[in-house]
Amino acid sequence: MRNVVILLCMTIVQSRVHMSKIAKEVLIKHPMNISKLSNQELQWTANEEWNKFVGLCPNLDSGASLSVSFDDSLIGTDTLAWAAMTTVQLNNTWVSSLATQKFSSYDFIIGVNPEPPNGWYTNSNCEGISYQYDLRTVLRHELIHGLGVGSSLRYSSFSGWRVGYYDSYGLCHPRLYDTKIKDQNGNNIVQGCNVLKTPQGTSLYVGGVQLYNPYSFQQGSSFSHHNYINELMYFSLPWGTCLNLQAQEIKMLHQVNVNCVNFENYEDIVDASSTLTSMVFPLHCLMLLMYLF
Ligand SMILES: [Zn+2]
Repeated sequence: MRNVVILLCMTIVQSRVHMSKIAKEVLIKHPMNISKLSNQELQWTANEEWNKFVGLCPNLDSGASLSVSFDDSLIGTDTLAWAAMTTVQLNNTWVSSLATQKFSSYDFIIGVNPEPPNGWYTNSNCEGISYQYDLRTVLRHELIHGLGVGSSLRYSSFSGWRVGYYDSYGLCHPRLYDTKIKDQNGNNIVQGCNVLKTPQGTSLYVGGVQLYNPYSFQQGSSFSHHNYINELMYFSLPWGTCLNLQAQEIKMLHQVNVNCVNFENYEDIVDASSTLTSMVFPLHCLMLLMYLF
């Protein structure tokens, strides 16, 4: 049966990677010679990382449109990078366009801090990293968000817990990822755009992977990352190391219909049958810029 597809797109700024104060201080105390990257080299590095993802997760579009550049407004801040993704409406959920084929505009935009302490480490081989952040690790982290690993659950004292976004017809849809969040009994915590139970501080899972969910809600971090420190989709990334896609990330990606190699090795998961098929996209989408931070 054909999926009924898509009228609208929107772009959301969904993710920022920060460095901690302590990390910053340690790096500053160990200065290194910095070689600066050009925007072009940055874009090439991102393209290389995307191509590695396509190699690992063969349904992905090798022709996806990534736009990656340095953002001077991040100089002197503790933000390493931000990402904005385009989502398209599919079966009453918002789905990442990066995880689909045939989207013709930018699927994904990444802004990178041009001057982290000691500059960026960019080699594929991690041996020489020393006191630097690995650019490729940050890009991989953001690409996984861009593929749809990220929740729209949010809280404000005015309206309480909310999930999902409205389309231009005034209909609200959750993100596909939101619909996969389960409590420890396996129950969904959202239904449509209704939040069924207070989510903060409870044990929550996507594809069996426990989510980062401290009792004090952290906008942009809670629910959108897993709870495994020093792995790629933890909410903060360490310097001095290079992290790759591993079991937890592969399980989470599977939940948003991105199937990567070796998934079978990690399989303790239902829902393996849901895949995106027969999708047709409009050439132009309604683009809304919504800043969540
Ligand atoms: Zn993140």
